[in-house]
Amino acid sequence: MSKNRKIIIAGNWKMNKSIAEAEELTRNITMELGETSEVDVVVCPTFTALKSVGDIITNTTVKLGAQNMHWEAEGAYTGEISASMLRDLYCHYVILGHSERRTYFGETDEIVNNKVKAAIAANLKPIVCVGESLEQRESDQTKDVIKGQIEKSLAGLGENLDKVIIAYEPIWAIGTGLTASPEQAQDVHAYIRSILEEMGGTDIAQSIRIQYGGSMKPANAEELLSQPDIDGGLIGGAALDASSFAGIVNAGIQK
Ligand code: PEP
Repeated sequence: MSKNRKIIIAGNWKMNKSIAEAEELTRNITMELGETSEVDVVVCPTFTALKSVGDIITNTTVKLGAQNMHWEAEGAYTGEISASMLRDLYCHYVILGHSERRTYFGETDEIVNNKVKAAIAANLKPIVCVGESLEQRESDQTKDVIKGQIEKSLAGLGENLDKVIIAYEPIWAIGTGLTASPEQAQDVHAYIRSILEEMGGTDIAQSIRIQYGGSMKPANAEELLSQPDIDGGLIGGAALDASSFAGIVNAGIQK
């Protein structure tokens, strides 16, 4: 089946940049990109820079995303931020279940599932991350791990399944300079789509965008994005540099 899904490139800035630095990066990104609309472009700064970055991109095609949120709407959850608070700041997207949150903050698939439901209820588009460790890949568990993560993180969404974006991020490729080969990535992306088909049927599975993440850069983006089931990128390191990020967006436009 031909790919008619719009490419989506999202930058995950992680815990980097002061407000002034985030503003500078944002200005540089918008200058590099101009009026790009062939590709959906999202930037995900820290919570503290969301307002300033959001103000700069208001009249551009770049959209704002957050890196995390809590699933409750409000209440006694010290240090947390809710979906509606992100909407207050004009966020359109939120990254959920990133491997760093799963590894360092104990996020389980059940927690991710609660967050996905709360994000959708607040009209935020969740970017749901899944991926295997090196040990799991080497012991041939990749597909079992991915299946469990997808089925549990997206459980009970019903017709709202089509509101999610998935990011396949092999943990061994995140921030390591190692990239999954286009064939390795395509293989897992096609597998993810087959699970989505089991969960929601063909039309929904064909409409859901699946990003690749893990050391994507301008030099490897075009080949990865040319794969039939790779519909975008979630970018860490290369998103902190405006011309690298724009280079990846341009690779998405080319293909
Ligand atoms: C990420 O953390 O989502 C990521 C893909 O990082 P990097 O591009 O640096 O590997």
